[in-house]
Amino acid sequence: MSAHRVAVIAGDGVGPEVVAQARRAVEATGVEIAWTELPWGSDHYHRTGRMMPADALATLRGHDAILLGAVGDPSVPDHISLWELLLALRQGLDLWANVRPAQLLPGVPGPLAGRAPGEVDMLFVRENTEGEYAGVGGRVHAGLAGETGIEVSVFTRPAVERVVRFAFERAEERRGRLTSATKSNASRYGYVLWDEVVAEVAADHPGVEVDSVLVDALAARMVRDPGSLDVVVASNLFGDVLTDLAAALQGGMGVAASASLAPGSDAPPLFEPVHGSAPDIAGRGVANPIGCLWSAQLMLEQLGEPEAAAALRAAIAAVCRQGPRTRDLGGTASTAEVGDAVVRAVEAAP
Ligand code: ATP
Repeated sequence: MSAHRVAVIAGDGVGPEVVAQARRAVEATGVEIAWTELPWGSDHYHRTGRMMPADALATLRGHDAILLGAVGDPSVPDHISLWELLLALRQGLDLWANVRPAQLLPGVPGPLAGRAPGEVDMLFVRENTEGEYAGVGGRVHAGLAGETGIEVSVFTRPAVERVVRFAFERAEERRGRLTSATKSNASRYGYVLWDEVVAEVAADHPGVEVDSVLVDALAARMVRDPGSLDVVVASNLFGDVLTDLAAALQGGMGVAASASLAPGSDAPPLFEPVHGSAPDIAGRGVANPIGCLWSAQLMLEQLGEPEAAAALRAAIAAVCRQGPRTRDLGGTASTAEVGDAVVRAVEAAP
């Protein structure tokens, strides 16, 4: 089989530090990858005035997957780094399903540590292209009212339906439970449409137990009774917030992984840790690479390499259990020491 073509956007801050470990671990599995390094991000912005070149999407389309570290730097306004790179990729490639597993890794300290292995195993599916982050609105000077900011959420039936269907399919493959989170008691249009679509799609999936809940109640349930949740589907904003809460429940930003997919299209899926560029610790070699390693593991699954993915998954779990661990998990190890241990565990796999 020919090598998988993977575009690497290591990005800013701790991005290059964690991506380096993920690449080594993927290589240790023996899967053949042709890496294309794309030096896009805040340095590129300072050099050229753009976070990435004008033909970036065309360049990426020639690949099977994208591995991204993190984007953002204190010297570049957040709305530029976010809109001109991350959101430009998600929207430009129409990567409409953001998928984030939330399981407890053995030995990782956190608010839910001590629960039985396997008790917490949630899969979040977030609508990734519109909703509250559609970018529709404006700033107006509205006379007596003073300056006014208007932000409009956009929920189109096809976009809601495709992500809801995708979530039902994942629930069917897993434990057969789907929880959909909106706030349709307080908002009268978009979330009501969302709830209607969930009820309609449910009719095609009689084997899935469906629960349409209010997002505030769900946040409390994630903390109190996470074992009752299997697949959770939510809008762009709610998915964003809930998955950060899920990351904290898992043991922190350093361990959480994500995939942005366009099922049914040939756009390359994007894999990235949930954390940002962490400028407060960048350049010191102390960032936790587990979130990026886990994202690379999701990438191997998506590339059709289940054995390599399973080996990397087992290696990550073994290193979390036995150490070494980075400081955010109560250890003293460097990013590279954790990466070394994962590589050794992959190489030792039967
Ligand atoms: P962004 O806006 O890009 O999300 P941020 O600073 O708000 O940036 P993060 O970059 O995710 O958010 O950082 C949040 C906190 O989590 C910081 O204190 C950071 O040091 C910590 N953190 C983030 N990633 C890691 C990591 N891989 N290892 C250890 N700590 C991390």
